[in-house]
Amino acid sequence: MRDDTIPVPGAPVRTGAPDAAGDLTPELIGTDWWTDDMLARSDIPVHDVPFVSVGGGIGSFVTVDYLRICGVPTSSIRVLTQLETPWESYEYLTRVSQIPRRERLRSDSASCPDNIWGFPSYAVREAIATKSLKPLVQIATEPIFDDYWTPKAGQAFESMEKEYHRISYPETVVKGQVRMVRRRVGGGYFTVLTPPEGASRTKRVAFRSRYVHLAVGYPGLKFLPDLMDFRETHRDYASVVNAYEPHEQIYERLHRAPGTVLVRGGGIVASRVLQRLIDDRDARGLDTRILHVFRTFVTTSHGPNVWMRRRGGDGWAYQGFNYPKSVWGGQLKSRVRKLEGQQRADLYEIFGGTNTPKRRTWQAQMRRGRSEGWYRAFPGEIAAMEPGPQGTVQVTLKTDQGPGRAQVVGVVDCTGLEADIREHRVLADLLDHGGAGRNPLRRLDVERTFEVRGTRSDPGRMYASGTATLGGYFPGVDTFLGLQIAAQEIADDLARQGFCRSLGPFRSTAQWWRWARGQKI
Ligand SMILES: Cc1cc2nc3c(=O)[nH]c(=O)nc-3n(C[C@H](O)[C@H](O)[C@H](O)COP(=O)(O)OP(=O)(O)OC[C@H]3O[C@@H](n4cnc5c(N)ncnc54)[C@H](O)[C@@H]3O)c2cc1C
Repeated sequence: MRDDTIPVPGAPVRTGAPDAAGDLTPELIGTDWWTDDMLARSDIPVHDVPFVSVGGGIGSFVTVDYLRICGVPTSSIRVLTQLETPWESYEYLTRVSQIPRRERLRSDSASCPDNIWGFPSYAVREAIATKSLKPLVQIATEPIFDDYWTPKAGQAFESMEKEYHRISYPETVVKGQVRMVRRRVGGGYFTVLTPPEGASRTKRVAFRSRYVHLAVGYPGLKFLPDLMDFRETHRDYASVVNAYEPHEQIYERLHRAPGTVLVRGGGIVASRVLQRLIDDRDARGLDTRILHVFRTFVTTSHGPNVWMRRRGGDGWAYQGFNYPKSVWGGQLKSRVRKLEGQQRADLYEIFGGTNTPKRRTWQAQMRRGRSEGWYRAFPGEIAAMEPGPQGTVQVTLKTDQGPGRAQVVGVVDCTGLEADIREHRVLADLLDHGGAGRNPLRRLDVERTFEVRGTRSDPGRMYASGTATLGGYFPGVDTFLGLQIAAQEIADDLARQGFCRSLGPFRSTAQWWRWARGQKI
């Protein structure tokens, strides 16, 4: 197949009659490989651009950052997104799950989505900005004598904003929601976008590109069935909440009157919610009581052997980052890269699972809560939830000591963000019509280069990064550093195909100097 089968970038190619609706036709919906003529018959306008990134969150941002550093002009890239800024979705999720800008994130000092070199790291930059040696002392002594140093959310957002302008990211953005990506007869892909109301004369527009990158984040919030049942049966959406949705009302109720709250889950979000409850208790002199239910109550350190042990206790499994550090660049990274099928799934099972960092402040808060009797953690499950008196919730619990009952002002469920990839429309379409398949963890199957296996449309390539690809040859995909490692693999693959320059020592050093001086590219 020849390279020039994909038209060069330029103005939209007007197709079909000018007043037609420009919507998907049954022919398009039912066909896996689309021709240019099929698009022309539908009157969907077609824009040509070599590289399209779908999503526009942090995964798209770090990929575009790499490509810009590797010499790709903004005119060759289009990011299709509904977001105002790449960190909008992430900032929303961190804020509602109790990590506002002033609080610290989970990832380490060198995980900098604004800086592909990770140097100077966030800790160095904070030390310079605050004229304090404290961050440097902490990174020199972590994690033995101190907790891991992690950046404040605000530092990550502000530094990304600088890089966003430096690489002229806004020039690449096209607003709208992507409906599907289909392979093109003759090479490359069509990505169909539904633009915002009034932004286009047609219902859809299409982007004809040689390369597509998917970074669509979480397929959706996973609301557990008992939570949904309670909300739908009793039309009460405020008392039983998922921690990833706004739930200030629970804290406000506790500000107005003393009460008990039930927290469910053992991950970092549960830690954050507990911190917020206890901080409020201390700052406002509240009499909040906290019940904390763990489905799996970890009592001690655990792991298959002495080399792969994780600390645990009081219900929690403890780990500094969501995976052992070596998944980003050590022995686990290289081991997983070589594994296929069930063997890969088994290793993920060993180092994965819900966990939270063992931070000294959280430990002190919980210790105090236990000794003063207002914090109680226990293994169990919620068996039933009913409305109680004065807007409370009557919870029936199944515990090891038998059934229990509690009357609470609210239930904060900290268990789920991840839904099945099929719940995402674009990914479902890709499974049904795009040739994509599932990996051993049932997410999107990608190659070591992050190309989506089975979707090739020569000479075009489709790539994906982020949580949709968890279970692949590289485990740390849903993290800043993981998204950058994926972007580097993608940029390397694109360099091999001649789309961008490769990032050798000379270009890398020269580009780092430009970054350090804040020079635009
Ligand atoms: C609460 C929380 C805390 C986290 N903390 C850390 C941390 O401290 N350190 C770390 O390294 N990682 C952290 N992560 C993980 C990860 O780095 C972030 O989730 C990151 O935002 C993932 O980037 P992404 O691009 O994959 O997804 P997102 O940033 O969510 O972006 C994907 C975007 O795609 C858009 N989209 C989806 N479908 C379509 C469509 N059809 N058309 C157009 N747009 C679409 C979505 O609206 C979304 O905005 C955290 C995650 C969460 C949820």
